[in-house]
Amino acid sequence: MTDARRVISDMRELAALTSTADGAQRVAWTATWREARAWFTGKVAALGHAVEHDAAGNAWVTVPGHSSKTVVVGSHIDSVPNGGWLDGPLGLLGALEAVRVHGSHTPPVNLALVDWADEEGRFGLSLLGSSAAAGQLNIAEAARASDRHGTGLADALAENGVSLDRATDAHVRLSSLNPRAYLELHIEQGPVLQSIGRSVGVVVGTFGVERHILRFIGQAAHAGSTPIPLRHDAFLAAAQTALECRDIARRHSTREAHAACTVGVVDVEPKIPTAVPGVCEIALDQRALDGRVLAAMVLEARQASERFASENGVSVEWRPLWSVEPRPFDSTLVRLCEEAVREETGDAPRLPSGPVHDATRMAALMPAVMMFACSPNGLSHCKEEDTPEAALEQAIRAYVRLVGMTLNHVASTA
Ligand SMILES: [Zn+2]
Repeated sequence: MTDARRVISDMRELAALTSTADGAQRVAWTATWREARAWFTGKVAALGHAVEHDAAGNAWVTVPGHSSKTVVVGSHIDSVPNGGWLDGPLGLLGALEAVRVHGSHTPPVNLALVDWADEEGRFGLSLLGSSAAAGQLNIAEAARASDRHGTGLADALAENGVSLDRATDAHVRLSSLNPRAYLELHIEQGPVLQSIGRSVGVVVGTFGVERHILRFIGQAAHAGSTPIPLRHDAFLAAAQTALECRDIARRHSTREAHAACTVGVVDVEPKIPTAVPGVCEIALDQRALDGRVLAAMVLEARQASERFASENGVSVEWRPLWSVEPRPFDSTLVRLCEEAVREETGDAPRLPSGPVHDATRMAALMPAVMMFACSPNGLSHCKEEDTPEAALEQAIRAYVRLVGMTLNHVASTA
């Protein structure tokens, strides 16, 4: 039987071991992260299992089943600096509970648990371990990456016994498991479930992201001597574009999946109170669950930027910054997840995930689905991150139920 209380007390124990007054400090590849993993290895050993590491530093526990097919469960134990107690550990220790429950006898197919290395992207590359296991890690790009203190990615990995050049060998290992499903429990890290008064939700996919730098170029001029109709104000064109992008995201939002856009960086030149901005750069981040919707949003934003540029007598250039494709989850697993959540909570709201997760990488390889526990006030990546224990218990029970249903489902398919 699932013991959700045990999972919660394990998470509290881990938090106490690896946090300071500022929050969780399980930053990947550091001493505190190694301590967290050693603690986890002890929990696994107490169940009579062993932890193995793949070439990318991901930690695996495998329970052999009656068939060579495998259901993969897991999440990550690493945190951002000054992080919370639930982002990662909820999914990892929920998966450990699934191993305890469904691994107590030989399961119908293999059950593999994974703790992905460096999900949080200490070196600016999110999903490092799962990207390597998915065969999607760009080694050359990773070799150039360093953290905010100037430590190189390759050096930090080497210090932990991981050779960056061989990291994608992890993909060969994962493929050899004949993986048929990936299931991840996580906190929502957003306010949607709370806003509809629900504790647990079914995630239908992770958003695609299109991130661009827009550079508006006008003419700097004296703030007093230049009449408004004669200005070439790059900032005003950028500001009007930002407002229009908000409307574009509103227009493309539906009840099942909102669309999002954010202007998180604004930079003007010459940046003095007495000059009309001659140049303005903004970073535009657009997200949607449907690839066609996302493409339409980018096109509309581009047209809007050109219109407002021309109205303000300036020009605009677009430069791509980063993008990831939308990753809708598997419809069969989404249905199983709905059933599991409904049986525990009486209802199964669907929602998309705004953040990317390791499940985003796994969904490219095999059917995948995620389950979310609500995040009151949407707070995450900070020490205030919290979820009421009653909601956590429901989510853990629904997740362990989903793992059982998925083991049977995978056993019954060819
Ligand atoms: Zn996470």
